Amino acid sequence: MTPKDFLAHAIAYIGDECLLWPFSVNTRGYPQMWYLPDRTNREVHLLVCIGAHGRPASKMDASHACGVPRCVNRNHLRWRTRSANLSEGRNVGATHSQTTLTAEQVKMIRADTRNRRLIAADYGVHKDTVTNIQKRRTWQYI
Ligand SMILES: [Zn+2]
Repeated sequence: MTPKDFLAHAIAYIGDECLLWPFSVNTRGYPQMWYLPDRTNREVHLLVCIGAHGRPASKMDASHACGVPRCVNRNHLRWRTRSANLSEGRNVGATHSQTTLTAEQVKMIRADTRNRRLIAADYGVHKDTVTNIQKRRTWQYI
């Protein structure tokens, strides 16, 4: 079975057990395969999530309900916002201050045209946090 065949198998897979990717994984431990349309290595769990659940409306991560990075069981994969992932302690790498706001709040702060001091007071964050969000120095992926 080629990686491409296995991808098709995973997208149609029915079962409760983790379906482990038998091919290569990237440095983060996630399954990868050469994806011709993009001419690059793509993370397979992402492709399975797209194939099984459709593309997310906004930028989201394909999250493992089972916590096994190598698993490509469609029933263990779901779209989650990055902030939801972060609040579960996955995808480490963001600072703690970014986890105290939700993606929804970040969007509202970006759209808020009031004085930054007032906005900061509303959300209980520092004025600089608001500035960084509005200037897209933080939360770039939202
Ligand atoms: Zn699994």
